[in-house]
Amino acid sequence: MLLNSVNGPLGSQDLGKTLMHEHLVGGFAGWQADSRTPAPDRRRIIDVCVDRIEELKSAGFATLLDPCPNDASRDVDIMGEVAARTGFNILFATGLYLDLYAGPHWKARLAIDPDGVKSLTDLYVTELTDGVGSTGLKAAVIKVATGKAPFTEFEQKVMEAAAAASNATGAPIITHTEAVDGELQLKALTDRGVPAHRVIVGHCCGNPDHHYHEAIAKAGAYVGFDRFGLEYIIPDETRAQSVAAMLRAGRRDQVILSHDCVFHMFGQMSSDPQLESMFTAFGPLHISRVIAPRLQELGVAPAEMDHLLYENPRRYFEGAAEHRPRTNGIGEALAV
Ligand SMILES: [Zn+2]
Repeated sequence: MLLNSVNGPLGSQDLGKTLMHEHLVGGFAGWQADSRTPAPDRRRIIDVCVDRIEELKSAGFATLLDPCPNDASRDVDIMGEVAARTGFNILFATGLYLDLYAGPHWKARLAIDPDGVKSLTDLYVTELTDGVGSTGLKAAVIKVATGKAPFTEFEQKVMEAAAAASNATGAPIITHTEAVDGELQLKALTDRGVPAHRVIVGHCCGNPDHHYHEAIAKAGAYVGFDRFGLEYIIPDETRAQSVAAMLRAGRRDQVILSHDCVFHMFGQMSSDPQLESMFTAFGPLHISRVIAPRLQELGVAPAEMDHLLYENPRRYFEGAAEHRPRTNGIGEALAV
């Protein structure tokens, strides 16, 4: 199956080792309102991204998905230049951020325009099929983001548009949650016709409860353990234990690993250097260097790690409908 990558069509069999939730750049809408922030130096930002991608290549990675929402400073020109310089596969999303942080344009439009959902659906479909503006760069997935339930009217409308665009194009969906209410978010999408196996419910690893992860897996979606390194939310040890528990429960087909790194953040987020460093201090090799060895201690065989980093991204993009439960426990030798 051919996927939209920034470097052009990419065969799903050629994804290789893949991180499913990392960002080249990001920033909360309106970061320019702090005029003390120096103007971004695009050359330097691109160099930083290229360095990070070269690190990833040296660790055997071939692909990343950058699910930055359109209104969180997504920059497809930077992605294009970085992909061209590195030959690395970069796939990106079309979508909007959660109500709390969404850009005002679509918040106003969806509140005012009786055809707002239709228009947003059209934007998503256009970016998936024709590309972003005049760049020709096409999105590969749809990003959905919600806060805690009850979801706001804005978030309901955004999910309606995302589901309609997914149904129209077959594009899969990747989400942001606040590590709770993932089941409700998934239900909102499946109620609108999106098959659960086309959805990654993101940031589930911020919740330590195995039953929460299991409920989302049971509903048929992929479960995002996609914030390794963000220890201010939850310790990585808890995340690692959660992944091991999912594998023990036979859910190896549904576990997605990533860091949610931002290689360059627009705007300063805190005057506290420690807080500020959280946005950029950890790197995209944290799973390879620190988490994989820890998972191995917890009984996760290297072949199972490969399954999570090679097979699950491919299965997600290809729309593999069947998740095969593995009930023999972790540490089992697997033919991937
Ligand atoms: Zn993210």
